[in-house]
Amino acid sequence: MRPTGKLHLGHYTGALENWIEQQNLLQPDGTRAYETCFLIADYHTLTTSLDTSSVYSHTIDMLIDWLAAGVDPEKSPVFRQSQVKEHAELFLVFSNLITTARLERNPTLKEQVRDLNMDAMSYGHLGYPVLQAADILLYKGNVVPVGEDQLPHVEITREIARKFNSHFPHPSIGEVFPEPAPKVTKFSRLVGLDGKAKMSKSLGNTIFLSDTPEEISAKMRNAVTDTLKVRRNDPGRPEVCTVYSYHQRFSAPDTVETVEAGCRSGSLGCVDCKKMCSAAISDELAPMLEKRRYYEARPELVKQILHDGENRARRIAGQTMAEVRQAMHLGELDA
Ligand code: SF4
Repeated sequence: MRPTGKLHLGHYTGALENWIEQQNLLQPDGTRAYETCFLIADYHTLTTSLDTSSVYSHTIDMLIDWLAAGVDPEKSPVFRQSQVKEHAELFLVFSNLITTARLERNPTLKEQVRDLNMDAMSYGHLGYPVLQAADILLYKGNVVPVGEDQLPHVEITREIARKFNSHFPHPSIGEVFPEPAPKVTKFSRLVGLDGKAKMSKSLGNTIFLSDTPEEISAKMRNAVTDTLKVRRNDPGRPEVCTVYSYHQRFSAPDTVETVEAGCRSGSLGCVDCKKMCSAAISDELAPMLEKRRYYEARPELVKQILHDGENRARRIAGQTMAEVRQAMHLGELDA
């Protein structure tokens, strides 16, 4: 995840929730199903902005949200890309395993060019999925929890892994890299409060994980509903309503049924419906808010968690790069 500061509900339902589920998933014998690593992709911010002045503060804000949401640093190392030099080394190797034409066909990139009105693209931006492949494969990721928009990048990662393995078989372990599979969450996209397709900080249509119940209620008052339900008793169409989509995610199933029936019949007004929705979201965020306060009061602990994670990541990444060099016959004095 890029360090963009405090996280919102879209980040939670689209990524973080899935990460934590995977981190805590147990096999029938009680052992963990996955070993999880969580990357703060600070180099990736360069692709869209050269202003790095806030990257550190955004990193800490985001890390606190991760911890508050349930990322357990004992189980999962958390680390910054810029502090593990092997990311850049493997990126260099991988850059030679893919053509520019393949990267230009990437649909996610085309969407970005359109959304950001870009008239020119840097070499680094075009190669963004290649750096992402290095981020994943350095830790030999088998499963990558992603949002739908990142699926094409996982495909590029798989192609690069295949190409490396076939060109550079390792003398003792054979294939150095696994071909990672994507894992997409059911609620990977949460619409914004304004009804736009995506919750996004730049669009100002978000509920932050750190918002208080009062802040959530205030934001919810402006949420877009069914525009044809003008008066309280008008029948509404929940399927076109932003608030209903939040109910589906955050309210209990019987509440969702009550909301749907009440909206359609006109017995439920939007003001009351929004109050119920705010309460459901606040309830889910309450434990996170408490944990956030704990970490905010202990900045040294947060830094220590990051340093420990980076040390663990360097050990794994160093081992992988040693295998890469061996497979490529680099560094052999008498070869
Ligand atoms: Fe949306 Fe609820 Fe209003 Fe129906 S009653 S339009 S679901 S806010």
